[in-house]
Amino acid sequence: MLISLGIETTAHTFGVAFVNDKGEVLSNVKSVYTPKEGGIHPREASKHHYEVAVGVLRKAKEEAKVKMEDVAVVAFSRGPGLGPCLRAGATLARAVALKFKKPLVGVNHAVAHLEIGYLKSGARDPVFLYVSGGNTQIISKVGDRYVVFGETEDIAVGNLLDAFARSAGLPFPGGPKIMNLAKNGKKLIKLPYVVKGMNVSFSGTLTAAEKLIGKESIEDLAYSLQETSFAMLLEATERAMAYLKKEELVIAGGVGANERLREMARTMCEERGARFLDYPIEYYGDNGAMIAWTGLKQYLFGDTISVEDSKVLVRFRIDDVRIPW
Ligand code: AMP
Ligand code: MG
Repeated sequence: MLISLGIETTAHTFGVAFVNDKGEVLSNVKSVYTPKEGGIHPREASKHHYEVAVGVLRKAKEEAKVKMEDVAVVAFSRGPGLGPCLRAGATLARAVALKFKKPLVGVNHAVAHLEIGYLKSGARDPVFLYVSGGNTQIISKVGDRYVVFGETEDIAVGNLLDAFARSAGLPFPGGPKIMNLAKNGKKLIKLPYVVKGMNVSFSGTLTAAEKLIGKESIEDLAYSLQETSFAMLLEATERAMAYLKKEELVIAGGVGANERLREMARTMCEERGARFLDYPIEYYGDNGAMIAWTGLKQYLFGDTISVEDSKVLVRFRIDDVRIPW
């Protein structure tokens, strides 16, 4: 059996996991950097990553009950992401690969979110709604590429929630806090709703919601922000499903941890006779398992890189990656 070690460090999360070629996750350990105030500071986040690197790797190794000798491949998130954070993971991956003489694989972070979605949801041919702090895209596989059919024209939905929370004085990450506040919201406040075909735009919604802080209750604002932005996402997603004639929906990325978003996705799918395929929350946000799993697939198709050629790719696009499987 082949075992893969995966290292994820594109932004706030330092994640390490061991996964085998049956798709079993042997361990999936993370340490998340949380800024004292404001958003993510790339250098501060990378400092956190360097500090926790060895401890997280050791814990993941112990939980997986593996020896480095048993590992077939070392995979790391090569991009897209914050340069200093990416380099922290790449540095650890290179050191481990050199020390234990293992092949190295550079993984596209967005591809990894979708691949773990495939694995854990059991989907065969889905439309993906990829929603995280920095990304909002509607994607499906065509031939040997992931193709982006729709996306945000400005900020990502995770950024909408985090930025609104920050303006309201709530600490990063705002998404989970907004979700909990929204549970006690009752009034649906009208906010800008912008869908253009399969694209969405959130910056007007953010500005309008921010202007209402202090005038409306924070619970009602959180509720209205979620209802409006998630309805926009699902309208665009439903259009993509109809256009592409797909009957499965998989959500990927950290905002997928939102219960209300998943509930709305389920309702939309049921109403059109499609299936929303959910999976455990630990695989929605950034995690090492998605890198280990995707890296193992790449390794099986000979997609390894030398340490010399392993520089990180801050703007690594999902459609630059050929998917041979
Ligand atoms: P990722 O980069 O994929 O780990 O996703 C991080 C983003 O997910 C941040 O913008 C978080 O605010 C957001 N997020 C995490 N949990 C939730 C949640 N329960 N509801 C909404 N957003 C969330
Ligand atoms: Mg992510």
